[in-house]
Amino acid sequence: MKLSFKIGSAWGIPIELHLTFILLILAVLGLAVYFSDIYSFILVVFLFVFVFFHELAHSVVARRNKIKVRKIVLYPIGGVSEIEEIPENPAIEWRMAIAGPLTSVILGAALVGIYYLLPVKIPTFKPSSFIISSGNILLDLGYLNLLLGAFNLIPAFPMDGGRVFRALLAERMKFSNATKYAAYIGRIFGIIMVGIGFFFFNPVLILIGVFIYIGASEEAEQTIVSTTLASVRVKDVMQSEIGSVRPDQTVTEALEVMFKSKYHDALVEKDGVFQGLVIWNEIIKVKIEQRNNIRVEQMPLKNISTYPDEAVFESYKLMTKEKIDLLPVVERDIPTKVVGVLTSEAVANAYEKAKNH
Ligand SMILES: [Zn+2]
Repeated sequence: MKLSFKIGSAWGIPIELHLTFILLILAVLGLAVYFSDIYSFILVVFLFVFVFFHELAHSVVARRNKIKVRKIVLYPIGGVSEIEEIPENPAIEWRMAIAGPLTSVILGAALVGIYYLLPVKIPTFKPSSFIISSGNILLDLGYLNLLLGAFNLIPAFPMDGGRVFRALLAERMKFSNATKYAAYIGRIFGIIMVGIGFFFFNPVLILIGVFIYIGASEEAEQTIVSTTLASVRVKDVMQSEIGSVRPDQTVTEALEVMFKSKYHDALVEKDGVFQGLVIWNEIIKVKIEQRNNIRVEQMPLKNISTYPDEAVFESYKLMTKEKIDLLPVVERDIPTKVVGVLTSEAVANAYEKAKNH
């Protein structure tokens, strides 16, 4: 289910607003209208701007370290910068993680500092009817940033502090173990927060606690699966039985071979020499009445393959990038000799195995 919506982009990085943030904005707007209290709404809009700054700081450090940021998702309590891969260097990870909270804390301190130190005239409002506030916009926004920074420094996944904590552990132990311990602390933290929430009848605390608990568990699972999968080689899960088609065969014949071998794409070989793949998206473009006339050699070929000693995880990344469900495996010394095929089904099985490891 898609729970976040694209609202724009910065340096080519898509920026998405999470459903919870949209709901929060709508809820506050409703309450603001009900209490004729525009100030609460202004605070929430600024929260959105400050979360954006916070997230941007993560992305800037990521880019400076040549880590690709896939997208930024803004949540009311912070954000998530989805990066292409977790940096293996803990020093980069903790710098990237701390950049966000640091930005929030500096912004907050600056706003509060301006309020106390500089004789500036600031617009004041009637304090919000349902958000703890002073009514002084400079001071309230300052505290909002300090809260955002402090909250994200909690050493629990999926908060930034959890990442810093993991990176510090990873300097001393295996990355997967560091993740396991950090996630463990994250879960305990979530449970404590839910407990406190129930004790004080505070539904926001309960929600945040649940969010931390789920986030910590997901993070741990993903990391552990990807590190376990990293040690599985293509040859461990590939099928050595190959159903290939010849360039002079028709599309109908190719479909028959694909159906029989349960392939999603057609593997083309000529006299035992690998030619390439005709992908499913191209095959279905051929109209049914033309499938008996058009030959495989008239179709666009994709020359793509992997090696038996390659990591399954890397090969799978290639498959998702190229949108294929079948990856031919060729010999490293003779790259025209197909020795097997890797299917996404085989990868899914390996993934299941790694998860239950
Ligand atoms: Zn952050």
